[in-house]
Amino acid sequence: MDISVFSPLKHFRPAETLLASLAALSILIIISPQSWFSWTRSLDLHAYPSELTADESTKGNSTIRWVNQDQLAWECQTGTIFPAYCSFEIDLRDENGKGLNLSDFERIWVQIKYQGQSNNVRVMLRNAAPPYYTPEDRKSTKYNMVSIPVERLGEGLYIDKSAFAVANWWLSSMRLGFKDSQPEYNNIIGLELQTGETHFNEQHFFQLEKVVFEGALFPRELIYRGLIFGWSVLILLLLLVRVIKLKISIERGKKEQAELLDLNNILEIQNKEYAEIACTDQLTGLRNRLGIRDALYENMQLWKDTRTPFSLVMMDIDNFKQINDQYGHEVGDNILRSAAILLLNNTRRSDCLARWGGEEFILVCRDTNTAQAQQVAENLRSKLEQSDIHSKIKVTASFGVASMTTYDLDELFKRTDVALYRAKNTGRNRVCVENTFQNPPHNIAV
Ligand code: GH3
Ligand code: MG
Ligand code: MG
Repeated sequence: MDISVFSPLKHFRPAETLLASLAALSILIIISPQSWFSWTRSLDLHAYPSELTADESTKGNSTIRWVNQDQLAWECQTGTIFPAYCSFEIDLRDENGKGLNLSDFERIWVQIKYQGQSNNVRVMLRNAAPPYYTPEDRKSTKYNMVSIPVERLGEGLYIDKSAFAVANWWLSSMRLGFKDSQPEYNNIIGLELQTGETHFNEQHFFQLEKVVFEGALFPRELIYRGLIFGWSVLILLLLLVRVIKLKISIERGKKEQAELLDLNNILEIQNKEYAEIACTDQLTGLRNRLGIRDALYENMQLWKDTRTPFSLVMMDIDNFKQINDQYGHEVGDNILRSAAILLLNNTRRSDCLARWGGEEFILVCRDTNTAQAQQVAENLRSKLEQSDIHSKIKVTASFGVASMTTYDLDELFKRTDVALYRAKNTGRNRVCVENTFQNPPHNIAV
């Protein structure tokens, strides 16, 4: 039983695997909770000294007291003089007087128990840095302040860094330039909680439970830029690989094409050679029946189109069987070869000579009427008669001549054959033309 499990990754090629991996990573990063990429710093509230102050400095008569200092719980009775407030402050300085560098925090989690009529509580992160800060004056710290609603304060809530602003009353008392009037967190020496809006003669209860700072390990922007960079590099790489592969395959294609062309040329040459062999008589080197087919059709067409005269001369060596019988087949072959050479040497360029079979030859005479063909045949006959192809054997041949009169090649051959037959029957070694021709020259039978 086949229990193989379908795994899509198995069917992926390396490029697709890379793309899929980067796509999965991108989705994961996009949907991942912020906490995956953030640091948190929980303030150990009991590790720092804390202090309660009321509004004596503004000549107020509010009062504040610890309910339980270990649990950081206090109580405030606002007075009757504006601005009537109470403060709780944790001193975050270390033994060298240095505060916390919270420049890269992004949000702060605070959890405070509150009972009272106020709608808001002020949270202040007090920064100590030149040019505004003088160690002698605690109030010279920059008050990065946010006012938060009290409803969900007991359960805890996040306050974004962007919600903080430098307190107006502090700015107006300091007279600073624009740059220095922005929130700053590089040396936070105090965390202060204050009653919210002014309410005279009211009771407020606070218990500070938790303060956690959170910041990004890597800014989101950096992560997204990294992703875009990764995608760009991957796409460029894949394109590069594709272009290289394409180039290689084009080169391979070109090489294969060149090889095919070479092969084609060789086949064409071979084809021509085979066609040549197929059209050539192997004994004499003359054309064979197939070899004169084109010449026959060409002349026939020419006759049909323009009535250009077209004649055939059929020749047959006389008593060849006897030669074979008397001197052997090899001698017969030699005679056939020599006769072929002689005939070819005495053939006009416009005519086409072929071995028709056995000891028979045919001459296709272009633009030649019967009388002219008869002359051509007579010339060949006499050349053969006078030749000394063999020292002991007189080789002669009989010739039949006919011209095309109807558009029918078979009929022309028949008439040529009849003329040849007559030449044989009337004594051989002669030229006979078809019956229509009159007044034959010497040695020509009609
Ligand atoms: P005729 O004058 O009436 O033409 O008599 P012939 O003997 O020439 O004619 P026949 O048709 O009786 O004999 C032809 C002979 O030609 C028979 C055959 O063996 C011979 N022959 C045919 N082809 C070849 C060949 O390629 N080589 C040789 N040596 N002989 C061949
Ligand atoms: Mg014959
Ligand atoms: Mg013969």
